[in-house]
Amino acid sequence: MSIFSKIAAGEIPSYKCAEDERFYAFLDINPVAYGHTLVIPREETDYIFDLDDKTLADLHVFAKKVAVALKQVVPCTKVGVAVLGLEVPHAHIHLVPMQTEGDMDFRKAKLQFSAEEMQALADKVYAAFKAL
Ligand code: 5GP
Repeated sequence: MSIFSKIAAGEIPSYKCAEDERFYAFLDINPVAYGHTLVIPREETDYIFDLDDKTLADLHVFAKKVAVALKQVVPCTKVGVAVLGLEVPHAHIHLVPMQTEGDMDFRKAKLQFSAEEMQALADKVYAAFKAL
């Protein structure tokens, strides 16, 4: 079971931003920008392009809703989208609220926020998502 499967199952804690029966979104623990969020299918597949067509499409539609909620909570120019998958072998989409191109630089030093800040942010995104 991947670490992200354990997160989606609630076996490992996360800052939950959104969920439904098939998908789950939570704050990245090492964010490149405030509001950096990961969106995953609960179904465990390593490489995103190994997902079946419907799951891949539905994952993106779910991510779109998360991005709308995120943009309501975190002021930004746009929410950037990236897929890397070099670290965790469970397909995921990075959503990054951007002010500048540099906010999408995954090589730079990661930001740090307190547990209280992360929880408060996740709660706001979760509420915004549920209100859509
Ligand atoms: P990638 O696989 O796309 O290269 O990177 C994996 C991403 O998942 C990284 O941005 C990393 O900070 C994040 N990540 C890795 N392990 C955890 C975890 O246990 N919890 C959370 N919230 N994020 C994680």
